[in-house]
Amino acid sequence: MRLMVWQRTVEGEEERIAGDEPLFLPGDGARPGPARERRGDDGIIVARARDTAGAVAAVLVFDDLARAVLQDGVPLCGGLHLVRHGAELTVRGQRYWISADAAPIESAYDPAQHGAGLSCHLTRAPLAPGEAIVACPGTLAAGCGLIHRAAAWRAAMDGGLSCSGCGFHAGGAEWRPPRKAREGRLDEPFGSAWGEAAE
Ligand SMILES: [Zn+2]
Repeated sequence: MRLMVWQRTVEGEEERIAGDEPLFLPGDGARPGPARERRGDDGIIVARARDTAGAVAAVLVFDDLARAVLQDGVPLCGGLHLVRHGAELTVRGQRYWISADAAPIESAYDPAQHGAGLSCHLTRAPLAPGEAIVACPGTLAAGCGLIHRAAAWRAAMDGGLSCSGCGFHAGGAEWRPPRKAREGRLDEPFGSAWGEAAE
């Protein structure tokens, strides 16, 4: 699984950033970026983490920002917090969502990176350096990473097969930030005030 951080632009477009390395999510409207390049501490650091309770990320909240950071609407104290798939994080009003994304990643077979002499997990055909491969993304319950020839992977997924290592299949819809949930909240005080006035 890949850690993803989501943002929504003012136009309502969703943008996502891969958390392959720790990310800094600023609270001043600047764009998120690698934590090692951050300037200042006005934001939170999110890094991939897993635990048995289903957390997918760890979030570091600096003491100065304590209570200005919310997880699913609940203020966080300074320190390290575990975050589940689908959590909403708010940093000084900037909203972010965290997901563990199951999108398979295609790359070129590099024996130095992936290991020498590998074969496709599905077809058992030896892989040639530079050949297009796909590493299975795994499921929320289990990591995977089994390597397949890209063509074999696509054929298997298109044919409705599951990964024999972890059960991943292409039918699982990609996660997206919820459309409603908290958006309605800002309007609630107005809504109830109007309701009272009408009575
Ligand atoms: Zn798998």
